[in-house]
Amino acid sequence: MASGARAVRVVVIGAGTSGLAAARTLVDTWDSSKNGGPLELTVLEARNRIGGRTWTLVSEAPAAWNAADALGAPTDMGASWIHGSCPEHPITKIAKALGQTEGGGLVQTDDDSSEVVLCDTGKTPDDDKFDAYESMLEQAQEKAEDAETDKSIWQMLSGRSESGQTRDSALFQYHLATGAEFNTAGPASQLSAWSGFDDEEYEGSEVVWAKGYKTMYEALQSGAVKLNDGSNKVKVTAVAPGSRKPLAVQYGKRIREVAYDESGVKLTNADDGLVYQADYAIITIPLGVLKSSDPRSAVTFRPDLPRVTAEGIRALGFGNVVKVALLFPTVWWPEGTHYYGLAQAGEPDRGLFTYFLNVHALSDKPVLMTFALGSAADMAEKMSDAAVWEAIRTNLMTIFDSNDDVTVPEEMPHMIRSEWRADPHAKGAYTYCAVGTSKDTISAAFGSAVEGRLFFAGEHTSAAYRGTVHGAFQTGQQAARAVVANSRGAPAADSEEEEDD
Ligand SMILES: Cc1cc2nc3c(=O)[nH]c(=O)nc-3n(C[C@H](O)[C@H](O)[C@H](O)COP(=O)(O)OP(=O)(O)OC[C@H]3O[C@@H](n4cnc5c(N)ncnc54)[C@H](O)[C@@H]3O)c2cc1C
Repeated sequence: MASGARAVRVVVIGAGTSGLAAARTLVDTWDSSKNGGPLELTVLEARNRIGGRTWTLVSEAPAAWNAADALGAPTDMGASWIHGSCPEHPITKIAKALGQTEGGGLVQTDDDSSEVVLCDTGKTPDDDKFDAYESMLEQAQEKAEDAETDKSIWQMLSGRSESGQTRDSALFQYHLATGAEFNTAGPASQLSAWSGFDDEEYEGSEVVWAKGYKTMYEALQSGAVKLNDGSNKVKVTAVAPGSRKPLAVQYGKRIREVAYDESGVKLTNADDGLVYQADYAIITIPLGVLKSSDPRSAVTFRPDLPRVTAEGIRALGFGNVVKVALLFPTVWWPEGTHYYGLAQAGEPDRGLFTYFLNVHALSDKPVLMTFALGSAADMAEKMSDAAVWEAIRTNLMTIFDSNDDVTVPEEMPHMIRSEWRADPHAKGAYTYCAVGTSKDTISAAFGSAVEGRLFFAGEHTSAAYRGTVHGAFQTGQQAARAVVANSRGAPAADSEEEEDD
């Protein structure tokens, strides 16, 4: 590097998983002699915290939760699970570098430890008909392949399974809500039958962090872990306290305008109108915010984004999932089982507080967590606390109706609810392929840099792993790598999903 070389200015917008992964990767791998100068990194975050849609409640929680160390750990109101945790999983690698393993910092949840009660009989069926659900869903997708146009998965579901299930059966709808609609955040009536389920998965267990996802995002910020550039396998190593390079995140900096041309980027802060100039911007603003015209959220691009990007933003689905964590004075429900469910048909009933995670089975705290899924989620966000508790209590009473040893408490427990749709910096939970969209929509919209200056990252830009923490993490690494390639005068090829071999 020539002495006095100008710094390369990179702004990362957003300090959720993808923004922190991008910033961490840049800091950990930047080579001034090859990249045209030293790195001048700015991380701008609209909120007053890092993590974005990974959000472990600690200090925000009322005293009772802190005192009880709720959930045996703080409470995750965004992502909870490392889906498919296995040695190749990027988030598992972070956990491992931090000394967190299953049984020692990570806690496995068991999908098979589940009791489902039928709403109309109050009884647990001998067979929960999960196999019938899976094969009906597969048949609907096969049928869709022969159709000339894409339709919703709901439209393609038809017929009767060998065991007598139809799309209107209570057990089928229970699995639809707690499976397809939870995994994708997309209501079945809007999920693409062609592409709604074509994302990829890591093969491993479902685990949650005993101390919440903040273990991960705080490590990314503090530099307790070091990342390689992710160009081959993601390598994560632990860093001793004295050698860490923390990321300096600027809080309360909502970007309302992104102006760009081939010479650089200008970003305008919404509150004070301050303009940040940069050579490159990594934009991790969630899809819900990019879609939004709400003045608390809206972002303007000057010039307009390329048509294919704007069209992808418009057409992709951004669904909602509501979490309600309930802290009771004592455990009043039967212990041991991980999940309780209530099978009832119809929208929004099938997804409205019908699925309960027994947090007590994972920790020693008297906590249940329930969810509003599919079309029930947006409705649940608008309900009062009293209405939410009434709906939850009614369902719990049906689930435990036949158990004479159980009495569902009348009094509303301490309750914490997520409101991702109303949140101006999220505007929903996560991305799904709505009818007419596919992996190609995602790759075309976000896979290439705009003018060699704007690099999109975030779960919505991950064709293979959309809607997940690991998808967000990988796209952050890819964006960092693409910025490095551009700074060396060799624009990166269209970004591809990170594959571990
Ligand atoms: C209820 C719920 C449950 C989930 N469960 C799981 C799970 O169990 N496992 C899993 O793998 N995934 C899960 N997910 C998905 C996962 O949380 C997300 O895919 C991931 O966290 C998204 O990371 P991101 O970096 O793309 O976006 P974000 O984390 O949303 O980060 C974007 C950041 O940009 C900031 N921002 C927004 N607008 C601006 C602006 N204009 N200027 C500056 N900053 C801005 C935001 O405040 C935010 O911090 C869940 C999500 C939700 C909501």
